[in-house]
Order: sequence, then structure tokens, then C-alpha cells
Amino acid sequence: MEIDIARVRRETESVVSFDLTEKIPGFMFGTDNLTFNTPLHVQIEVHNTGKLLLVQGTVQTELTATCGRCLEEFVYPLNIKYEDEWILREDASADQKDTAFLFDQDVIEIRDRILEQIVMALPMKFICSAECLGLCPTCGVNRNLLKCECQDKQLDPRLAGLSKWRSKD
Ligand SMILES: [Zn+2]
Ligand SMILES: [Zn+2]
Repeated sequence: MEIDIARVRRETESVVSFDLTEKIPGFMFGTDNLTFNTPLHVQIEVHNTGKLLLVQGTVQTELTATCGRCLEEFVYPLNIKYEDEWILREDASADQKDTAFLFDQDVIEIRDRILEQIVMALPMKFICSAECLGLCPTCGVNRNLLKCECQDKQLDPRLAGLSKWRSKD
């Protein structure tokens, strides 16, 4: 995902737009192996403020993730706002070196920076839906698809105590 900022970085107050689409490989996120279901779509506007390049736009894609409750794969749509500051490495202050994206040349590769934004927008745990019932802890069936009898058979813990007490008679 390379872009050419030769003109915008030399002309104060100029603005340039980029509309980029790229198919990219998946990545590991914690213990989750995430893959991209659709190409990465990045639409940004780069504005030269005179001090730096102010970048605003959106990042859209769809990930294939595994639900942490039912272990089924599902499509996780991602639509995030992207705001960033890009600055020539030699012009960056100490603070900017920590927060801004530093570039050295006219043609820059922004894919890793975009991936960082995606990772920051991901949830701690992927759940296919708020209503996901997960797997039965007893027999392991996916309770979204099948109804098992396990819960009915489980004794109320209070009654279990009662039956123990009775058996002592
Ligand atoms: Zn689920
Ligand atoms: Zn069960």
C-alpha cells in the first residue's frame, strides 16, 4: 500500500486524496488467527498544514474471526476512522517521534501503520453476537444450533445438599 506524497509535502495548504484497495494476508492477534475476508480499503485525505501532514479518512475491511464462546468462524466488519499525523523524520520533535508516522521519502508504505490502527480498534475478545449461547460446558454442543438436555439434568445445588442430608438418615 504505497502512496506518493511528493507534491503534497512540498506545497503548504495543499490537499490530496487517496483511495487504496489491497488484498493483504492475515495476522495473529493474541491467540486468534485473523484473516481478511475482503481487501483492505483505505480512503484518506492528506493535508499539508505547513508543519506536518494531517491525515483523515476511513479504513474498511472484513475480518474472519473465531467466536470466543461458540468457536464458530464469523465475519467481523471493520469500519474505523483514521486520523494521523505524518511528518518528515528529520523534522519530528521527540513527542512526534512517539506518536506521529515518520516518513523519509516521497513514496511511502503505509500498510503497517494502517494495520496498527486496525489492531487498536479490535475487541479484547471476539463474540459472534451478544446473544451467542456458546458451547455446553457438559456435552460441548453449540447451543446456538442444538438444544441439549444437560441443563435440565443438573440439580439445583441447594437441592443437591438436601439429598445428601437425607441420605444420612
Ligand atoms: Zn458465538
Ligand atoms: Zn449439553
